[in-house]
Amino acid sequence: MNREQPSVTAKTQKMNLKGMWVGDFEQLLGELGEKRYKARQLASWIYAKGATDFSEMTELSKDLREKLSRIATINGVQLVRRQVSQKDLSEKFLFKLSDGEKVETVLMWEADRVTACVSTQVGCPLGCTFCATGQMGCKRNLTAGEIVDQIIALRDNRINHVVLMGMGEPFLNYDEVLKAIKIMNNEMGLSFAAKRITVSTAGIPAMIQKLADENLKLKLAISLNAPTDAKRTKLMPINKKHPVKELLAAVKAFVKKTKRGVTFEYVLIRDINDSEKDALALSKLVQGIRCKINLIPYNPVDDLPYDRPSEERILAFRDYLYPRAPAVTLRRSKGEDILAACGQLRV
Ligand code: SF4
Repeated sequence: MNREQPSVTAKTQKMNLKGMWVGDFEQLLGELGEKRYKARQLASWIYAKGATDFSEMTELSKDLREKLSRIATINGVQLVRRQVSQKDLSEKFLFKLSDGEKVETVLMWEADRVTACVSTQVGCPLGCTFCATGQMGCKRNLTAGEIVDQIIALRDNRINHVVLMGMGEPFLNYDEVLKAIKIMNNEMGLSFAAKRITVSTAGIPAMIQKLADENLKLKLAISLNAPTDAKRTKLMPINKKHPVKELLAAVKAFVKKTKRGVTFEYVLIRDINDSEKDALALSKLVQGIRCKINLIPYNPVDDLPYDRPSEERILAFRDYLYPRAPAVTLRRSKGEDILAACGQLRV
């Protein structure tokens, strides 16, 4: 059971079941003198059916529902604000957490693909110099319940892809993120196929290896953003601790172990990492790695000294990079006008 959850014998505060999973429920039901198989029903009611009150759980006996409501709650995130982009209809949601902290979640619409970009921390401790979230510092990690509840709260939108790419570095909140992924990737949970879930990291080599060992079929994206240590360290201070060579060694090991390719995200910033020389260095860096490079033209953030390259320069970078690199896509950011685009989230 989640250590932060009070045990059934400590009756001072009700425990929140959202974020707990089948093993936790089995333990709880055991303490209540109930059959453990009911754990699966409980999970299914909370996640698959989205129940927020025990009275809805008609499959469970009245006696059990009453016992549960005396000791537990099913609390989720609270929607505070919704903004819709006038440019591309992407939407940004501000959610309040139980302690008053806030996080943002973005929905992006493309043909039949609806992607939720979900936060994993309140802020982010990594302080990438081009990123609005990175300027906030990190107030705390989200619980697994708070991570999955961003999707549950928006499920009427028929979300079919999830990217853990909102506020925060998922690998610095590994255990709760992994638990949230297990809830997403299970029919008693949110029923997302693993290949529809992407974890995006700034690059923490040990955690990339750890994820490879989990044997999940998730997608992995790495924010690379520069082809040399000198440039990358200026944009991403984490590079001082884990330089490019170490990061790429972990990525290669991930690809070898999982037999799956990865995506390198590369935010194109004017006069910083957008030259032909950068493109050439980038293409050499990824040689031999099964990967795709996703180019993201920078979305300017107030108070930060960076700009987006001209359209001409963006296309020139892409055309120089491909076919030198195996696969290259150019992502048109969504929701720029509501500050919902990549690197613009800040509460
Ligand atoms: S780019 Fe990602 S890792 Fe870097 S500060 Fe922003 S949220 Fe954190």
